[in-house]
Amino acid sequence: MSMKQDYETYTAKRAEMEKTHFGPLWLNQEKRYVHPFKIFGNIWYVGDSWVCVHLIDTGNGLLLIDSGNCGATDMLVQVIWEAGFNPADVKWIIHSHGHLDHIGGAVFFKRMFGTQLYLGEPDAIMFRERPWISAIQDAHADGACLFTPDYEIKEGDVLTFGNTTMTFYMVPGHTDGCIAIFFDATDGEKTVRCGYYGGFGFNTLQKDYLIEIGDPTFETRKTYLNSLKKVRDQKVELFLGNHCINNDTLGRRQQQIDHPDGPNPFLDDQVWGKYLDQKRDELLAFMADPKNN
Ligand SMILES: [Zn+2]
Repeated sequence: MSMKQDYETYTAKRAEMEKTHFGPLWLNQEKRYVHPFKIFGNIWYVGDSWVCVHLIDTGNGLLLIDSGNCGATDMLVQVIWEAGFNPADVKWIIHSHGHLDHIGGAVFFKRMFGTQLYLGEPDAIMFRERPWISAIQDAHADGACLFTPDYEIKEGDVLTFGNTTMTFYMVPGHTDGCIAIFFDATDGEKTVRCGYYGGFGFNTLQKDYLIEIGDPTFETRKTYLNSLKKVRDQKVELFLGNHCINNDTLGRRQQQIDHPDGPNPFLDDQVWGKYLDQKRDELLAFMADPKNN
């Protein structure tokens, strides 16, 4: 093929992508840039307006929960600087699950800064054995986003990062390797219990999807419900989203801006339970709908 033909193939592919539902997620990443802000104490928001990334200053290195969408690593580097930190100080990245919109920065941080990468064991196995489940082929990046984790998270792990000790549970459903995390954060005066649930989307519970991955009886949906139940009654005073839509991250940020002396809009001990119950009810309704069976 000539260079000219190569170029024409490339532009045709790009034009086609612009017309797809998910195309703009990869073509217009900068539109989703969000200026970083402090959520509470040592926890900062460094994600975009779609997928969350949280930065925790552990006092002995920075920890990220997730590393952003594939192709958005330049934004992640910028937002960490803008928050007043040096990206080179990111010692650990904990990944909520192994989908392409949560793992974008992993390989870069590992190669550039030696960052240690964490991922739930089942999703690490998925990367090795069935990497297409990560949807990396939809990333329209260079494809080098998948990684070998330095540590594979298991049920009940209790791990310490600087001044922060995290307890991990496996909450399979959205993927097999989704994790939930519970830990304390402090602003020096007050300590609050944080809760994180790593993946709520029903996109991986659809009929055709489950048949394709080898679950024709849709057991994954029951697994998802059991995972919600397992961590539903954890004490959570600060619910951190996996995507902004989970906890209305940007709405709460707007409240911070509008009422700088008001109560912290992120501190709410009801929202975790309410949101998990909402997802349970939505999933039960989804399962009862004949078109999904
Ligand atoms: Zn996902």
